[in-house]
Order: sequence, then structure tokens, then C-alpha cells
Amino acid sequence: MTPSTDRNSALFERARQLIPGGVNSPVRAFRAVGGTPRFVQRAQGAYFWDANGTRQIDYIGSWGPMILGHGHPRVVEAVQRAVTEGFSFGAPTEREVELAEEIVKHLPSVEMVRLVSSGTEAAMSAIRLARGATGRSTIIKFEGCYHGHADALLVKAGSGLATFGHPTSAGVPQEVVQHTLVLEYNNVEQLEAAFAKHGADLACVIIEPIAGNMNFVRASRPFMQKCRELCTQHGALLVFDEVMTGFRVALGGAQAVYAAQLPGFAPDITVLGKVIGGGMPLAAFGGPRAIMEKLAPLGPVYQAGTLSGNPVATACGLATLQEVARPGFYEALFKKTSSLVEGLKSAAAEAGIAFAADCEGGMFGFFLLPELPQNYGAVMKSDAPKFGKLFHGLLDRGVYIAPALYEAGFVSSAHSEQDIADTVAAAREVFKTLG
Ligand SMILES: *Cc1c(COP(=O)(O)O)cnc(C)c1O
Repeated sequence: MTPSTDRNSALFERARQLIPGGVNSPVRAFRAVGGTPRFVQRAQGAYFWDANGTRQIDYIGSWGPMILGHGHPRVVEAVQRAVTEGFSFGAPTEREVELAEEIVKHLPSVEMVRLVSSGTEAAMSAIRLARGATGRSTIIKFEGCYHGHADALLVKAGSGLATFGHPTSAGVPQEVVQHTLVLEYNNVEQLEAAFAKHGADLACVIIEPIAGNMNFVRASRPFMQKCRELCTQHGALLVFDEVMTGFRVALGGAQAVYAAQLPGFAPDITVLGKVIGGGMPLAAFGGPRAIMEKLAPLGPVYQAGTLSGNPVATACGLATLQEVARPGFYEALFKKTSSLVEGLKSAAAEAGIAFAADCEGGMFGFFLLPELPQNYGAVMKSDAPKFGKLFHGLLDRGVYIAPALYEAGFVSSAHSEQDIADTVAAAREVFKTLG
């Protein structure tokens, strides 16, 4: 395709004149893999069509929200109805109550929720709530976990064990991250050392229980158990950032996956987003009544939002959650995701490519590594140029995966067995060129 007929290139050129990098969220710019981002014209089911009219099988699904695929008829109908009733009121609606009921029903650790508009806002507010509820300042986060782009959470590890971190973004003053301790994921000894030193000052530990922002890395069972034990022992709150995993890996989120292995296990505060909005700007945080009642207007922790609980977004989220709550939904989804992962593994093995993969519910990750990494440092040992070749090889064959090796992938209920088979066939061809 020549530049004059490639509408993706033409749009990217126009976009770059007006929008920094041509995109409204950095990963969309394809900087990690090179080439031209695809501008989406429309999407339906498991597919989207780019500005040239080329179809892609979509394994990003808006980075998680589209668990039913694009344009699910019952969700579309609910949104259409909501739109005719008004876009936003700045006053409470019945649908907010219904969505809150739906969330609380499936998450035993959550008695009350507050709805917000983005995962960033939800995680930031959850941290404020944890600090307000405990009267403490220090927080622990783990390297490779992403909790949105609030200042205090844009931090990388400092030098040495259990030291305070450094900002990962310009514009974040050192003072703003001076209470954020960054530790290695799945490192029990470091966690123990941090609690021994800072336990009395710790407001919370925030964690992605199955990390989806360093591709796909599970917190090990002993590590998760230690997080829970130490928080309880020291009076800190355990905050599960389930923006990605909530209603994605199971109806009860990642906390249900851990509760199945560790009886009685529950986080204190849960952060949600992505699937609960079904593709609309909607997120939430929730927990036990005693903690949630610390929020304004009942308590001293301030939090607010003009568009919070937006009536169109809640209609979309509610219709989405009603679909995923149908019996057998996650079993069928997991079967599909597993068949993709197994297919990719055997295709890689045939080509003699080092490859490891894992999945849960409708979320998966794979690595051009001989075994599954346990932390961010190990994820980053992946061969980036090789990943770039794999990405573009798949894209050329109509398969759209995340354009960066540190991102997870998503399967929706709209993906068919044929889509999975076509994807594995495309991967088999590409793996042969990677050797
Ligand atoms: C996507 C994500 C966020 C941020 O959500 P936004 O809606 O993009 O602000 C926070 N935490 C996790 C785990 C996420 O995956």
C-alpha cells in the first residue's frame, strides 16, 4: 500500500500534528514495535476494521473491557435506551444502585462501592481512603504493577532493599512519592523486611493480584498469603487493584481465584474498572461498610465526580455484568482462552521457539522466554526485537495483539473456535520466521 492510499498513515500524520504522538494514551502509538498504528473505523464481535477496511481479530478488546466482544446486541440496546433518557444529571439514579448491587453480589469482600470514571481515579481514591481510614501515610506497591497515572503511584524502585522510590515521570516531585515504597513482585523476603521496618507507618499494600501490566504474572500463593498476613498483623489495608482482573478472570475476580486456594482469603479494598463499564468510562472502588463509610459525605475522606455513575456508562456496565453472570460464562471463556494458549504453545514448540504462556478466565499472557517470569525484571528479559517481528507478522495476517511485550491479552465470548484456529495458524507461520 502506498502512503497516498494508506488511510492509517494519513490519519496518523494528521493526528501527530494535533495530539502529542498522535494518540491519547501512549501505548497506542506502536513505539515499542514500530510501524503505523491502526485507526479503528468500526468493530463488531471479535473483530475491528481499520481505516483501510482491513479486518483484525482483536485480542486487546479496549485493554480488557470488551469481554462480550464489540457491539453485543443486549448491551447496545441498553445503551440506546439510556441515551434517549438523558446523558448526565449530576443527581442520583436507580441504575447506579442496580450496578452497585450487581458488583456487591459477586464480590463477597465488597459491601459498599463508590463509582468513578476511570481506573486511575479509582486507584487514587482507594489509596486516599486507605490513608484516611488508617491515619497512616506509607504505601507499598510492586514493581511492574500499574495502578493508573496518579502522581504517588508513578514510582520505580529506589536503590537497595525497602527504600523509597523515584518518580517514573517528569512532573512528579520527589516529595510526592516519598511515602511510596516499591518492592519486587513475588519477593516474600523483601516484603517481610519492609513490614519489619515500616509496619507501623503502613496505610496499605496495593497489588495487581494477577498482574496484567507486566504481561501476565500471577502473585504466588505464598506471596499473596504473606501480603494478607502482614497487613492484618500490622493494621495495614490490603488493596486489590482488580481494574483489569475484576469480572475478567472470574465472576468474582482474582480474589475468587485466591479464595479458592486460601480459604477465607479476602482483600480489604477492591479497585475495579474496565469490564464493569463494558467499554464506557466507568470504574469503582469498594470494601467493607466500616471502611467505605469513611468517605464523604459520611466521613472525612473527600472524593467526588461530576460524571461519576454516569447514566449511559452504568447502563452499559450493568448490561455487560448481567451477561457475564449467566451460568457457565467463565467456564466457556476459559476453555477458549486455554485453547488459544495451548495452540500457541504447540506452534512455538514446533518451530523451536522458547515460549511460555499462562491464562485465567478471558485473560492471557505469553513470553518469548523458556519459563514464566515471576517479576518485572524477568519479564523485561524478553527479546524485544523478536517480539516486534511476532507482532507485525500477526498484524499482517489479521491478528491484533498488544503492541508491547509487557501487556496482557484478552479473549472475549465473541471469539469463535475458528478465530482461535485462524490465530494459531497465523502464529505457526510467523514462529517459523523467528528462529
Ligand atoms: C487499566 C488499569 C488501571 C487504570 O485504569 P484507567 O481506566 O486506564 O485509568 C489501573 N489499574 C490496573 C490494574 C489497570 O489495568
